Amino acid sequence: MNYQKILQEVYLEAKSLPQIGNVAQTIPQLSKVNPDKFGIHLTTIKGQDFGIGDSNEKFSIQSVSKALTVALAFSFMGEEIWKRVGVEPSGTAFNSLVQLEFEKGIPRNPFINAGALVIADMLVSHLKHPKEDFLAFIRTISGTQEIDFNLKVAQSEKETGYRNAALANFLKSFGNIENDVETVLDFYFHQCSIEMTCKELAHSFYFFANEGKTMDGKQILSKSNVKRLNALMQTCGFYDESGEFTYKVGLPGKSGIGGGIAALFPKHFTIVTWSPRLNEKGNSELGMNALELFTTKTGMSVF
Ligand code: GLN
Repeated sequence: MNYQKILQEVYLEAKSLPQIGNVAQTIPQLSKVNPDKFGIHLTTIKGQDFGIGDSNEKFSIQSVSKALTVALAFSFMGEEIWKRVGVEPSGTAFNSLVQLEFEKGIPRNPFINAGALVIADMLVSHLKHPKEDFLAFIRTISGTQEIDFNLKVAQSEKETGYRNAALANFLKSFGNIENDVETVLDFYFHQCSIEMTCKELAHSFYFFANEGKTMDGKQILSKSNVKRLNALMQTCGFYDESGEFTYKVGLPGKSGIGGGIAALFPKHFTIVTWSPRLNEKGNSELGMNALELFTTKTGMSVF
């Protein structure tokens, strides 16, 4: 398959659609990003790279990081993690509080903020130097040292993250946060602030497509555990738009309000798009359109 040609077609077609949506407004630093950025990168299972547009420009990965924190927590805790976080779609917004009271502080899944905060708490408990160790994990799976937190973005979210603070306190009241709330929020804001290019993110997600092994052969998770996390991304990766993403694109993936989407086809490829304009569910409008065009043109979808 001539992937470069297909990416070119997808890129031009997606760009010619009406460009709707706004850059994330909830984090002041993110609202400054140029809304017209657009990049796509595809990495095949054989390690070939194809990129177009702004695919080599760093952006804030935000909630895409939740797929990577849950992978790390799963790698050392195994099935234990599901005692504190569920594996069901929530059907609610990413930052919703509503289900937590009924479900006694057990978030529906690790991709809504409540679930990601519980996973962050597990990492804070388990890692010796949580932020540094998580960054080291990201550098390992991406195969590059050139990855960092954006401290301005982390600080900006800290100053305005009232809802995440409410969620963390609410979880703590149910006993589902072990560490102090400030420490967990600080870790969470930093994981979200990590910046990567489409290419770096496509490389980081490679182990999800490659039965748990990174591009340089490190086994991060077992084949079976990767299957489980891919299933979770398929059913919960886009919050209350997970059904829509599955219907239109047909790949497991994870989005972030920085406008990134990382998706994959097990044993075939990883694909990452970046376009900061978001739809009302907080997912990248152009990214979703581009991925829909890609799987429609190529027929490369898990369905
Ligand atoms: N840091 C953001 C928040 O917690 C991440 C949300 C997202 O990317 N959907 O609000």
